[in-house]
Amino acid sequence: MATSTIQWSPGWTTKAPEQGDLVLALSGSGIFKPDDGWLQTLESIPDNPGNAGFVSLGSVNGRPVFVTQVPESLVVGRDVVPLRDALMMISDVPAAMLSTGFQVWQWFQDHQYCGRCGGSTVFHPRERAKWCNNCNIPWYPRLAPCVIVVIRKQDRYLLAKSSRVKRHFYSLIAGFVEPGESLEAAVAREVKEETGLDITNIQYQASEPWPFPHQLMAGFFADYAGGELVLQEDELADAGWFLPGSRPPVPPDTTISGRLIRDMEIRIASGGRGL
Ligand SMILES: [Zn+2]
Repeated sequence: MATSTIQWSPGWTTKAPEQGDLVLALSGSGIFKPDDGWLQTLESIPDNPGNAGFVSLGSVNGRPVFVTQVPESLVVGRDVVPLRDALMMISDVPAAMLSTGFQVWQWFQDHQYCGRCGGSTVFHPRERAKWCNNCNIPWYPRLAPCVIVVIRKQDRYLLAKSSRVKRHFYSLIAGFVEPGESLEAAVAREVKEETGLDITNIQYQASEPWPFPHQLMAGFFADYAGGELVLQEDELADAGWFLPGSRPPVPPDTTISGRLIRDMEIRIASGGRGL
């Protein structure tokens, strides 16, 4: 992810924010930001009678920081940056803090009630968890592991265009890990399902949180092993083998898919063999 000058220390407290504490203010799918940064002071949050609360995110430069949600009706005409734009297009964005803020708020909203008995939950006193006093069970933030892979075939690699997302660029084969699967098994299954191809040498490269709404992306390289491209039409609109430097637009380097593509192009251009 991108780097930022904001020194964020992740942490957790059940204490309410006080005057002067910092707040990451979300609004809809964006960040309601001041002109000169990403965080507000508590006092500058618009008065909001229906406020659902504040959730601790730790501290920034020693000052407590919280996340909250401000209704879109209260920020009409103000600067709201969509999270996706912030993560993909702004190079010095505090990506980890914004990403965590969205995921933590999602969890807070989704676990106001116990999924087992339907009773109200409270904050756990020590851990970032909601707690049901009736069932004595915690509800932790959800994470959905996903895999994403660059498949190499000699000096080319596979790019695909999603049929579900109206983006102008091509990207990589990706999908959710299913219960009982290893990451590597998920890579092989997704590739087979979406393209009909067999792969080998599946090797882990890097990971990245992706808060839409709570994926953890694990990136891999793999080598083509056999089969013909047969696209799963409800997933892919197009796919093909591309040479480095001779390809359609791809996601920027601020995303894991962009970095995996860049790293594979470097590997191929440097004359490196398959894995
Ligand atoms: Zn319960």
